[in-house]
This record gives sequence, structure tokens and C-alpha cells, in this order.
Amino acid sequence: MSATPARRILAVVPLLAVLVLSACTADPAVHARRITVDQPTPSAPLPSPSTSPSASPSPTAKPAPGSLEWYVAQVPAFAEAPPPQPVPLPSTGSAAFWHRLPTDQKVAFITIDDGGLARPPAVAEFVWRAHIPVTMFLNSPAAEEHDVYFRQIQVAGGAVENHTINHTSLAGRSYGHQKQEICGAADRLEALFGRRPTLFRPPFGEHDSTTLRAAHDCGAKAVLHWTETVHEGKVRYQTPRRWYTPATSCSCTSGRR
Ligand SMILES: [Zn+2]
Repeated sequence: MSATPARRILAVVPLLAVLVLSACTADPAVHARRITVDQPTPSAPLPSPSTSPSASPSPTAKPAPGSLEWYVAQVPAFAEAPPPQPVPLPSTGSAAFWHRLPTDQKVAFITIDDGGLARPPAVAEFVWRAHIPVTMFLNSPAAEEHDVYFRQIQVAGGAVENHTINHTSLAGRSYGHQKQEICGAADRLEALFGRRPTLFRPPFGEHDSTTLRAAHDCGAKAVLHWTETVHEGKVRYQTPRRWYTPATSCSCTSGRR
């Protein structure tokens, strides 16, 4: 992330940052850049990032409730996110599986799943304005159909990760079927966004040992569940611990995960 003074930063770092460091590679930081949120069309050129900040209301003006400025103003000004922390990965030929990342750092991970159901234009602008590095677990057909939208979030500091092609349950399915769903999506997402996903989230969270093996063979280092969801303004917890803890979260756009 860029070191912009007085910026608002959630205590969030991308999942990618943790895992990249575990692979002993260099700087995992992402650089947020200006994006535009005009309604894109599939044939439109990609948004042209610039370094100029968004137009902001005067410091004395109170933003209207429900406006983008109002939402941005609700984001607390947290401290700088801590440096990424190495986490051990298995060497068994299977990807790691975590409900909660093995870190004691006070960080949370914000994710958006699927991609085919709702894509409010204001979300891309909000992510940029609030400096939130979102991790997107996308189904590859939705990513392909709406690639301009997701690229806007990507250039704001987001990372695109794997959520299969067809969003069907993988548990109990053959290795060949699971590998096709995971590798097929990884291949497409890599072609679309210029980077092969290193994280995988199984649809509905349903997986088995074959899933972890297939995910590994498709390039995933970890398979991630979640601990909280947000849907239509309601927060639902998947664990009894509701106070602040290191967690993965999933912000889905429908009842499915
Ligand atoms: Zn999903």
C-alpha cells in the first residue's frame, strides 16, 4: 500500500500478503491507485488510473447520509497494517485449509465472493477512497463477463482469487472434476488479470481432502473458509467469538457463499 499521509486504513492486509511472505518473496505491498467508476461496458477501455485524489467535499461540509462520502467517513482511521507475517504451509501435496489464518496480528481480511450477482459501481469507488485491499474470490465466467468492474477493484489494491468455474459443491466429487473446476478457473483468471490465483475458496465452503489436493495442483497455497458474512447489511457469525480476532470474512452478494 502506498504511504499516503493521513489516509484511512482498515486494519486489513490482503490475504495474499501473508502468503506471499510465507513463500519468502519480497515486498507484498500493493499500491492503491485512483480509479474511475463510470459504468463500464464490456467493450469499454479499462479505467485509466491517475494519482490525483477524488474530489472531496469541503472539510466543513457534512456528507449526506447514504452518500459515498458518508460511507467513507464511517471508516475508522486505523493504524498502519502490520508487516505481513509468515505462516507455515504444508508440504504434503495438498493446500492448507483455514477457517482463520494462523496469526496473532490484529488484522482482518475482507473478501468479496462470486461476482455474478451484484456489482454496485459505488463499491469500487468506496474501496478506493477507504484504502481497503479487498480479496475477490471470483467465479471465472462472472469475472470474464464483468472484468472491467473487477479490474477497478484490483487497481485499488485488490487481489483476484479462485472460486471455481460453476459454483457447485466439490465435496465428494472426483479428482478430475474438482481439478477441472479449480484449474479451469485459475487458467481463466490468470489470463484475465495477469496473475494466477494462489488462494481458493470452495463454493459454500464444501470441500474434502481431494479438494485440497486439486487446489494444490492448480497452484493454490491455501483453501480458505470464513468466519463472518455480511448480506444486505446484516452481519452473521460462523463462530461464537464475536469480538475482534484475526479472521477471514466473506462478503457475499447472495445467500450462497
Ligand atoms: Zn460463492
